[in-house]
Amino acid sequence: MGSIRMPPHWERQNDSLNCRLVLIMLKPVPSTVTPDLSVFDRFNFEEAEKHQVVIIGTGPAGLTAALYTARANLAPVVFQGVNPGGQLMTTTDVENFPGFPEGILGPDMMQRFEAQAARFGADLRYGTVTAVDFSGRPFKLLVDDEKPVLAETVIIATGASAKYLGLPNERRLLGYGVSACATCDGAFFRGQEVAIVGGGDTAMEEALFLTRFASKVYLIHRRNELRASKIMQERAFKNEKIHFIWNTEVVDVHGEKEVTGLRLKNTETGEESDLLVSGLFVAIGHKPNTEIFEGWLELDAQGYICTHPSSTHTNIPGVFACGDAQDHVYRQAITAAATGCMAAIDAERWLAEQDLIDEPRTETEYHVAAAVDSDTGKVIKENAIG
Ligand code: NDP
Repeated sequence: MGSIRMPPHWERQNDSLNCRLVLIMLKPVPSTVTPDLSVFDRFNFEEAEKHQVVIIGTGPAGLTAALYTARANLAPVVFQGVNPGGQLMTTTDVENFPGFPEGILGPDMMQRFEAQAARFGADLRYGTVTAVDFSGRPFKLLVDDEKPVLAETVIIATGASAKYLGLPNERRLLGYGVSACATCDGAFFRGQEVAIVGGGDTAMEEALFLTRFASKVYLIHRRNELRASKIMQERAFKNEKIHFIWNTEVVDVHGEKEVTGLRLKNTETGEESDLLVSGLFVAIGHKPNTEIFEGWLELDAQGYICTHPSSTHTNIPGVFACGDAQDHVYRQAITAAATGCMAAIDAERWLAEQDLIDEPRTETEYHVAAAVDSDTGKVIKENAIG
C-alpha cells in the first residue's frame, strides 16, 4: 500500500476509534478480507476524471453531505447507488423530522433533499461504486465496474439494507409473497391475510400500513415484549386488524409458486404449527452496506464503519463515513443528515489541511450547475458542469 500522510488530529486520536470506546460488540474486528485490486488492472486512471469530493449514497446522510460540500464550493460528485434516496424512499409518513409539523412522505422528503443539494451545484449521478482502492491518494473508485474515478476525499453514505430470516424458501419466494417492504408491496395483498415478523418500530409501522389493504395482519415476534417505541406499540395494539403472535419464530415458508403459509415454532415450548397467509413481510432490522470497504476500513462485528469519536474520520485519512453505514445506534433520518453534515465539514477541513482545495468556481459556473423550480422544489435542469 502507498504511504499516506496522517493529518495532525488523526495522529492525536488514532488509538481511539469510536468502535473501540463503547461496547465490546462494537470492537473493530480484524479484517480477514484482502481487497481484490485486480478489478482495477484494466483501467487507466491517468485519464480518469478527478474530484475533490466523491459522495457514495443519496439517503439523508449523502444528500446532506452533498449540500454542505456544494455550498463549500467543493463541487461534490454524488453516486446514487442502487437505491437512490435510500430507505426513506420506501417509507410512508415521516412524522419525526423537525420542520415538518404535518409530517411528510419519505419520497417527497428525499426529493427536497436532492433539489436542495442540486441547487448549490452537487453533481448527482446514476451509478454504483462497485470497488475502491484506498491504498494511496487520490483514491481510486470504480463505478458500475467500468468507469474509473479519482477522488481526493470520499464520503461514504451507503446506508443499510433490510435483513432476512435466512430460510431457503424465504429466498426462493422473495417477490412471490415474501417482501421486506410493506410500502412497496402491501397493495398486492388487498383483502388477504398476511404476516409480518419483527418487534421493532419498522414492524409496527409496516403492520399498520398493511392494515390498509390486508384483511388481517399477524405480527409474529420471537419474544413476549416489543422493542418498538411506546407510541408505535400503542398504535399497533389499538388496531383491530393486527393480531400478535408472541414467542414465535418463522421456521419455514410454504408455497410452490407463491406464499401459501408459514411454519411457526414457539420459542418456549418448541411446538410447531402452520399459519395460512399469502404474504410474509420481514421487518427484522438492517445491515450496513459496507462490503466494498472490507479490508480497507475498520468495521465492527456487524459491519458498521468505525469512526473517530465525535467525528466522521475513518482509519483512512481522507475517507469519511456517515449515516446508517456508520451509526448502528440512532439510525434516524435526522441523525443521518446530521452526520452527513459532519462528514462534509470534516472533509472540507481535511482538504484545507492538505492544501487540496481547488480554486473556487466562478459565479457563472456556479449558477449553471443546476436549476430548481422555486415553487415545486424539483430539479428542472441537470448539472451542466461537474
Ligand atoms: P430493530 O433492530 O429496532 O428491531 C428489529 C426487530 O426484529 C427486533 O424486535 C428483533 O427482535 C427482531 N429480529 C431481529 N432478528 C430477528 C430474527 N432473525 N428473527 C426474528 N426476529 C428478529 O429494527 P427496526 O428496523 O425496527 O428499527 C431500526 C431503527 O429505526 C430503530 O431505531 C427504530 O426506532 C427506527 N425506526 C423508527 C421509525 C419511526 O420512528 N417512525 C420507523 C422505523 C424504524 P428482538 O427485539 O428480540 O431483538
